[in-house]
Amino acid sequence: MDFEQENRIVSPDFNESSDGDLELSLRPKTLNDYIGQEKAKENLKIYIEAAKARGEQLDHVLLYGPPGLGKTTLAGIIANEMSVQIRVTSGPAIEKPGDLAALLTNLSDGDVLFIDEIHRLSRSVEEVLYPAMEDNALDIIIGKGPSARSIRLDLPKFTLVGATTRAGQLTAPLRDRFGVILRLEMYSPEQLSQIVKRSAGILGIAVDENGALEIASRSRGTPRIANRLLKRARDFAEVMANGVITEDTAKIALGRMEIDELGLDQIDRLLLTTMIQNYNGGPVGLETIAATIGEEAVTIEDVYEPYLMQIGFLSKTPRGRVATALAYKHLGFTVPGQQKFEL
Ligand code: ADP
Repeated sequence: MDFEQENRIVSPDFNESSDGDLELSLRPKTLNDYIGQEKAKENLKIYIEAAKARGEQLDHVLLYGPPGLGKTTLAGIIANEMSVQIRVTSGPAIEKPGDLAALLTNLSDGDVLFIDEIHRLSRSVEEVLYPAMEDNALDIIIGKGPSARSIRLDLPKFTLVGATTRAGQLTAPLRDRFGVILRLEMYSPEQLSQIVKRSAGILGIAVDENGALEIASRSRGTPRIANRLLKRARDFAEVMANGVITEDTAKIALGRMEIDELGLDQIDRLLLTTMIQNYNGGPVGLETIAATIGEEAVTIEDVYEPYLMQIGFLSKTPRGRVATALAYKHLGFTVPGQQKFEL
């Protein structure tokens, strides 16, 4: 991740050192406190209730969707609702099969093992997961060459919760071993506004109805961004107004952060403008755009594009990305084929 991305105010991965604890305190602990995602929530409620009634652990769950939509939060809620412990790790953190073996053998019966960015597990590590997920077993090879033999160890029963921004990158054998697959959707401004008000309550920030909605509607459908903008807007409200985030103070704060009415920041605008000015709006390949604006292709794909596609500013075609007429209009360009003729 490069410097610019790391410091991007609307990046869902943005990490302020002091934000870690705050994020923890803002995380809802129960399904009832978890706002939105009604479909995923309804189904999960039933699976959790059924597993509890049978006295079994919950089947393995795969959560997918763009960063900051609440996958980690939901994993914590699953553990909490099942009254079990959660162990948190991520694909890139598990380097060797032995690392995963150590994690698995240290679980207690019923525990949730949460693996973030599960699509980044290496093949050899993934192969340890298969028997673990299917038979609660760990196959260990002892010795080398002709005398090598495999022994099978029993593991505690556990629920694997995997999170990924890209379900398409999961290998089929891994994906097939999840009993429950849930896709998280972007949140509506109304849902985000509820999240903003809830977070404001927890953090002791004064925000009125319209102030919350203003922040919500510029948060790219993403709770993590909504919480971050809320904290920044508080700074402006405290210094420039009487501490209350109203529609006006929110507008001033967001304007100062160069986040427009739709939640687009400089990088979104640079991306679209480059496509329009340098490539006639596309089709243009992802790698080409990435090289032109100096961002990594995966970052563009995971962080920027989902929202731009959601609001209909960008479409993916087999020949590359295309900026839509809506994007042209929003950025003040004349839509091709709709040249104005002065009479
Ligand atoms: P992900 O794992 O998908 O990147 P997180 O679970 O870390 O996202 O969520 C980011 C932040 O957004 C959390 O700190 C939490 O406070 C907030 N959040 C996410 N989803 C919800 C929700 N449904 N209701 C309330 N807050 C949420």
